[in-house]
Amino acid sequence: MSKQGFTTSIVHGDRIGGTEHGGVRQPIHTSVQYGFERVEDLIGVFQGTKKGGFNYARQGTPTTAALERKITSLEEGVGTICFSTGMAAITATFLTLLRAGDHLISSRYVFGNTNSLFGTLRTLGVEVTTVDACDAKNVKDAIRPNTRMVFVETIANPGTQIPDLQGIGNVCREHGLAYVVDNTITSPALFKPKAVGASLVINSLTKTIAGHGAALGGAVTDTGLFDWSAYPNIADDYRRSAAKEQGLLQIRKKGLRDMGASLSSEQAHSIAMGAETLALRVKQSSANALALAQFLEGHEAIGKVFYPGLKSHPQYEIAQALFKGASWLLSFELLNAERMIDVVNALQLPIKATGLADTRTLIIPVAPTIFFEAGAQTRKEMGISDGMLRLSAGIEDIDDLIADFSQALKLAA
Ligand SMILES: *Cc1c(COP(=O)(O)O)cnc(C)c1O
Repeated sequence: MSKQGFTTSIVHGDRIGGTEHGGVRQPIHTSVQYGFERVEDLIGVFQGTKKGGFNYARQGTPTTAALERKITSLEEGVGTICFSTGMAAITATFLTLLRAGDHLISSRYVFGNTNSLFGTLRTLGVEVTTVDACDAKNVKDAIRPNTRMVFVETIANPGTQIPDLQGIGNVCREHGLAYVVDNTITSPALFKPKAVGASLVINSLTKTIAGHGAALGGAVTDTGLFDWSAYPNIADDYRRSAAKEQGLLQIRKKGLRDMGASLSSEQAHSIAMGAETLALRVKQSSANALALAQFLEGHEAIGKVFYPGLKSHPQYEIAQALFKGASWLLSFELLNAERMIDVVNALQLPIKATGLADTRTLIIPVAPTIFFEAGAQTRKEMGISDGMLRLSAGIEDIDDLIADFSQALKLAA
């Protein structure tokens, strides 16, 4: 069969290869233990010579494996490992592929908890440099002899900065660095980081891929582009596998099996159900975000609007060239920050909540919540004003959203 379209492959992928009783979805396998008729097969699963077998659910179940295949197919990778959360996937990637004395370069604009994790990495002896990755030259200039890895996010939250994804991919290839791209905000429906040379792609499945806000999960996918046989930190035990498999094998054994942040089958099933409508949801939520951004940009009560689908955005051209849409994430500034509480309370539809990529629109004031712990100085450096609101557009009918913002913003005058 010729290569299938994105949504076709998601909704038909499960039954290809066969399911029990012809079920069109993978069932939820709740067994922790897996028994074998012959002990040779048990031994084979332990040693990795018997492919596709299971021994203990901490390392995976048939249900989590089915989700891993789905994510691999969406990202056009060679393999995926799922974790209990997006943060677990990121933590496992760093802790298993970096060692004390190594150097990591990251975009300065990353998810707050990832930034906090860099502090932990530093206490373990990993040097971390954060740069403005919107210019690939800043990444290149930060490279040291001990640099091993570069980490970026496709669209930063809440400022919506987009790194020079292609330029950084070129720098990483020239210098043999592992290039890790957090694709959470765009998701494979809008962008496949493999196209810019990513080695590993991270997705918080909690967000765009599940989309319902009813399950936590994370994934790391190997694109197959990186030569792990040349990477110094792979343990001898995993050198015996094919070069392409070594990175993920080490993450599965050291990061999933040993650290134990495993995804449950129930959550994997819930995420897989949400993923079926990924492309449809993202199309609608991105269209809503664009319409809201245009409406807000023209509104007298609003200052800056941060949305990569607007021509005023500094990386508008990159978004147009690389992404199928500018995503559901936008931020904007209320000119009169003192009116913020009243305006947000007057909104009827958007839920006043943290979290991202739900079917329902979510809104949160940035400075007093997700960037409160960062302090005033860091907020200033990151361009986060007191009147900044972050919005995660849902799939509601756009006229309802615009009408709601129109009435609430009357209070901002
Ligand atoms: C939410 C988020 C994460 C963490 O995902 P969880 O599933 O909540 O742990 C990582 N990266 C980005 C860009 C995120 O938005």
